[in-house]
Amino acid sequence: MAHRPTYRGRFAPSPTGPLHAGSLVAALASWLDARAHGGQWLVRMEDVDTPRCVPGAAEHILQQLAACGLVSDEPVWAQSTRHAAYEAALAQLQANGVAYPCACTRKDIEGAQQAQGLARPRHAELRYPGTCRQGTGNKPERAWRLLTTPFSAQKTAPPLCGKALTAPYFRESAWHWFDRLAGWQQQNVDAQVGDFVLKRADGLWAYQLAVVVDDAAQGITHVVRGADLADNTPRQILLQRALGLPHPSYLHTPLVLGANGEKLSKQNGAAPLDLTDPLTALNAAATALGLPAGTHPDPNQSLPAQVDQALTDWVPHWTAAWTGC
Ligand code: GLU
Repeated sequence: MAHRPTYRGRFAPSPTGPLHAGSLVAALASWLDARAHGGQWLVRMEDVDTPRCVPGAAEHILQQLAACGLVSDEPVWAQSTRHAAYEAALAQLQANGVAYPCACTRKDIEGAQQAQGLARPRHAELRYPGTCRQGTGNKPERAWRLLTTPFSAQKTAPPLCGKALTAPYFRESAWHWFDRLAGWQQQNVDAQVGDFVLKRADGLWAYQLAVVVDDAAQGITHVVRGADLADNTPRQILLQRALGLPHPSYLHTPLVLGANGEKLSKQNGAAPLDLTDPLTALNAAATALGLPAGTHPDPNQSLPAQVDQALTDWVPHWTAAWTGC
């Protein structure tokens, strides 16, 4: 029988504020997927972007998760303790000649784009035009970037879930990857994003590097997270390839929209989860995932027991809907 790695999933919030209804959807989905596969579920605090972190938010998030019955199977990692691992990954890329220093400011990049006549669509990545690939001249080095071209030459991600990529969807110029909900996706990282940042000009580690290093270090086999992060996946797969790391599978859950039709986020003031009423919050999250709301735990039981019952009741529904691969 072929060796199958043990399932290890994770929920990786940034402690920039409390959890809200949208983040609970991703947390619940990743937990259910782990349980449906008989696997482990880990929580990791992604606190590398220190200026955006809010004191006390990490503890608050863990309390909110616990109130919803979602408790990490292993001690919670904090990325702020992982500098040596990120430094080692950057050193490996530098030694392989695929990371280079960059002296560009945001203004420089926008200026270079305008000079090339490249208009940037709203909300699109600011594509890095490769200005410092040949060196920074006498300008001070500010950030480190990945040279994407050697890896973009490998056009396909590994086939996942036995789903072969068929002819009409395959484009020579694109990087392909498989999402368990959305199916095959494609992006030309070099053309749409360019050489992306590994270490920022302010000395902080970039999300892409930290997430890839930690997913591998924690042996994560399945990433389940919100659809707003889907665009990052090709960069992460490319970086896994650059570092010789395994590729987890990916599932991006539907976003929860607020009354104004915009995605719920800490930035646009989504209300924090009500710790006193976890069942209502969990039912809303389950509904967003297409699971039947209104499991009916025994009201004579304690609230934590009712929460655990509700979670247990959803596992077979999740298994039926989502564990095809
Ligand atoms: N820390 C990221 C966020 O909260 C999520 C990272 C991930 O799941 O890959 O946006």
